[in-house]
Amino acid sequence: MPKSDWSIGDSSQLFGLEKWGSPYFSINELGNISISPKGEGGSTIDLVELVHGLEGRNLELPLLIRFDDILEDRLSRLHEAFASAIEHYEYMGRFQGVFPIKCNQQRHVVEELMTCGQRWHFGLEVGSKAELLIALSLIDDPDALLICNGYKDQRYIETATLSRQLGRQPVVVIEQPDEVDRIIAANRELGASPLIGIRTKLASRSSGRWGSSVGETAKFGLTVPDILLTVEALRDADLLNDLRLLHFHLGSQINDIAVLKDALQEASQIYVELRRLGAPMGYLDVGGGLGIDYDGSRTATSASTNYSLQNYANDVVATVRECCDANQIEVPTLVSESGRAIASHFSILVFNVLGTGSMQVAVPEVTDEEPLVVRNLRETLSNIQIIPLDSDAEFSSLQEAWNDAVKFRDDALTAFRLGYLGLPQRAMAEQLTSACARALVQRLPLDRTIPDELKALRSVLTSTYYANFSIFRSAPDTWAIEQLFPVMPIHRLNEEPTHLGHFADLTCDSDGKLANFIDNGNKKSFLELHTFLEDQPYLIGVFLGGAYQEVMGNLHNLFGSTNSVNVRLTSTGGYKLDHVVRGNTNSEVLEAMDHDPEQLLERLRIASESAIQRGTLKISDARRLLDHVETSLRQSTYLHG
Ligand SMILES: *Cc1c(COP(=O)(O)O)cnc(C)c1O
Repeated sequence: MPKSDWSIGDSSQLFGLEKWGSPYFSINELGNISISPKGEGGSTIDLVELVHGLEGRNLELPLLIRFDDILEDRLSRLHEAFASAIEHYEYMGRFQGVFPIKCNQQRHVVEELMTCGQRWHFGLEVGSKAELLIALSLIDDPDALLICNGYKDQRYIETATLSRQLGRQPVVVIEQPDEVDRIIAANRELGASPLIGIRTKLASRSSGRWGSSVGETAKFGLTVPDILLTVEALRDADLLNDLRLLHFHLGSQINDIAVLKDALQEASQIYVELRRLGAPMGYLDVGGGLGIDYDGSRTATSASTNYSLQNYANDVVATVRECCDANQIEVPTLVSESGRAIASHFSILVFNVLGTGSMQVAVPEVTDEEPLVVRNLRETLSNIQIIPLDSDAEFSSLQEAWNDAVKFRDDALTAFRLGYLGLPQRAMAEQLTSACARALVQRLPLDRTIPDELKALRSVLTSTYYANFSIFRSAPDTWAIEQLFPVMPIHRLNEEPTHLGHFADLTCDSDGKLANFIDNGNKKSFLELHTFLEDQPYLIGVFLGGAYQEVMGNLHNLFGSTNSVNVRLTSTGGYKLDHVVRGNTNSEVLEAMDHDPEQLLERLRIASESAIQRGTLKISDARRLLDHVETSLRQSTYLHG
C-alpha cells in the first residue's frame, strides 16, 4: 500500500542521497532534485526545471549536464584540504596538483580546470602523445607542472624536452627501464633535457579493483634495482641534476586508507634514498587513486572509501613529513594526480523512461474447475496473507509458503510442457506466483532484520523500465567492471515509489541494462521506482559519472554521444549555458564506421524508383520513406518523443 504521508525526507533516505549527494544534491519541496553547485549556502537550481528549459531549446534527452561550478568547487576543496593539512602538520613545503587528462579529455573540461586552477598553478598529467598535445596547447602558466607518463617514443620525449625551452615545466617520468636511454639520446640531439621523474613499482599491496596496478607485476614503474641503474645512467650522462620527481600510482579508487599509508611510507623512503644518491629531487607525486564514496557508506568496499578528502590529505602530508624529518632532509613539494575525485560530481546524465515491461498486479478471478496447481497457488496466497508475524520463527513460515509457491509454479510449467495445462491456466499460475511474492514482500516488516532469502524475494518483483540511453555510450563502467553509480528519479520524490525496477537500455545487447544499484555498502538488483504514467515523462538521473564514463563510452549498436551542455549559475540566481554540444547524428556514427550517408541515400532512391516501376511502392510512400531516412540522418541516434 502506498504510504500517503510519504515525504521528501523518506526519498532522501531511501536513495541514500544525504550520504552520497552532500553538499551538491538534495530534494526541494516540489519533490525535484535540487543542485547546489557551490555547496552549502550557495544558490540552487531545480534540475527538472533545467531539463525542461533545455528541452525547450531543442536539446532532447538523454542529456549530459555538466555543472562547471561543481568542477571548480571540487578543485578548490582538494586545494583547501591540502592547505589545511600543510598548516596543521606545519609542513614546510607546498602542494601542487595536476589533472590526469585521461579522466575526461573534453576540451571544455580541461580548459575550465586550467582557468579556475590558475590561482594554484594547477597543471596537467598526460599519458599519450595526443594528450601531450592537448597539454602543450592549454597550459600557459610557467609554474604549472606538465607530468608526462605512459609509453614514450623518441618524438614524445623530444617534444616534451623542447617544451621546457618554450617555458613550460615538463616532467618526463621514466616508467620503463629503456626510457632513460631515449632521454639521454634526446639530450645529445637537442642539448637540452626535460625535468626527469621516476615512477616506482611499490611492493606495498593495494586492494580493490585496481589493486594489481602496484607490485612486481604492475604494468608501469621501475623496480628498486632498475631505479639504481637509472640513477647511474643519468649520472654518467650528466643528467642527474634534472632528476626532480618520484612518482607512484596505486590504481584508481583506493577504498582503504591503510593501503595508502603503507605506500606513502615506502615511497617517502625511496625519495629520501634518491636524495642521498645525489639527485636534487624536490617533488613527490602521489599519483591518483583518491576515491569517491559512490554509495555514501564510508566503508572500504568497492563503491566507497573509508576516508574523506581531508583524511587523505592529512595522511599524505603527515607521512611524508615524518619520513623526511627522521632523515633530516627537506620536505618535497607534494604533487597529486587526482582525476576521479575532481571530475566525478560535476556531470549528471538524465534519461527518460520510454515504458515498462509487464507489471500485472491483479489476482486472476476464480474460474470453474481450476486445475490442482492453480488451486494450490490460491491457497498458498491466502495463507501468506494470514500468517501472524509476532516472532522471528514466523519468518520461516513465510519462507515455507514461498517455497510452496515456487514448487507449484514449477509443477504448472511441467504440466504445460506435457500438454496437461493450457495457456490460460499457465498464465494464471504465473500471475498467482507473482501475487504470492507481492503479498510476501508487503508483509515483511521494515523495522526488523529480514533473512537474506526473503529479502532476495523482492527481486522477483522487479519490472523492466525501458530507458532512452545506451550504457555502452554513457555509463560503460557499469557494464565493464560492474561499477555502481547512484541512480534515482529526479522528480516525484514526494510520492512513494511503489515498484521495483531495473533499466534496459536501447541497445540490442542483453548486457545493455542497468541492474545493479547502490545499497549502503552492498549492492541490490532493483531500484525503487514510481508507476510509469504514459502521459508524463519519467526522468532518471545517473550521478557521479563525470570521470571516465564519457571518454570510455563507445558506439555499440551505433548509439552516439548524447546532447551535452555546460551550465554556470549566474549571480542573479539564474543559469547560463556555457557550452552546448549536440550529440552525434546518425549520419556521423555511420561515417565513423566508414559508411557514406550520401551513397546510402542514393541507393535507396534507386531502389524506390524500381519499386515504383514494379508497382509495389506508391510514389507518396517512396517519398515518405526517403523523408524519414533523410531526417534520421540529421537527427540524434536516440529515440524522440
Ligand atoms: C589514471 C591515472 C591517474 C588518475 O587516477 P584517479 O584514480 O582517477 O585519480 C593518475 N595517475 C596516473 C599515472 C594514472 O594512470
